[in-house]
Amino acid sequence: MNPWYAKAVVLAASVAMVLIRAPHGNRSRKVKVVRSRRGRLEVALLTVAWLSFFVPFLWIFTPLLSFADHTLHPVPFFAGILCYVVGLWIFHRSHADLGEFWSITLEVREKHRLVTQGIYRRIRHPMYLGLFLYSLGQALVVPNWVAGPSYGVAFGLLFTLRIGAEEKMMREAFPQEYEAYAARTKRLIPGVW
Ligand code: SAH
Repeated sequence: MNPWYAKAVVLAASVAMVLIRAPHGNRSRKVKVVRSRRGRLEVALLTVAWLSFFVPFLWIFTPLLSFADHTLHPVPFFAGILCYVVGLWIFHRSHADLGEFWSITLEVREKHRLVTQGIYRRIRHPMYLGLFLYSLGQALVVPNWVAGPSYGVAFGLLFTLRIGAEEKMMREAFPQEYEAYAARTKRLIPGVW
């Protein structure tokens, strides 16, 4: 298949992601932060995740990564589109349910409530699940060994090193409530983990 199909899909998915997030970023910036765990590690991880978001654009608009190109096949291409669509839908739902309590980093905001309904009813980290599906979509759609897995690698690192600190912060902010919530939910995959 012509790699420009993949390039068009990646561009559309990136725009969708930015459009989904933008209004929430603007809204949550207006709510005061009362507790923050934005340490050096967190800043480094966020920087790596942001940089990796732009790697596919290097592949699309420059010849820098052409040494790692491979052939685009229909099965991974369409499976990747499915992952993108489901991932972006979950990403949108989790933003809608978290509302002004969403932060790009680890923060508790003024009048923060623990959200346990909607897409948060069965899993505690649906936004991360959405981002995992998004990164899987990218790995399947982009026929390049560097640009394809770039977001998955960076996000996998962010997730692995952040998840413990995030849950600890939530336990401290909502001691009994979070304990009960954690006891009846899974982290990422309903009923599994
Ligand atoms: N890990 C969650 C949220 C990611 S956004 C997910 O994957 O869906 C990170 C911010 O969301 C954190 O700073 C925390 O303050 C907030 N947060 C995480 N889970 C929450 C919940 N159940 N209710 C309210 N806020 C939550």
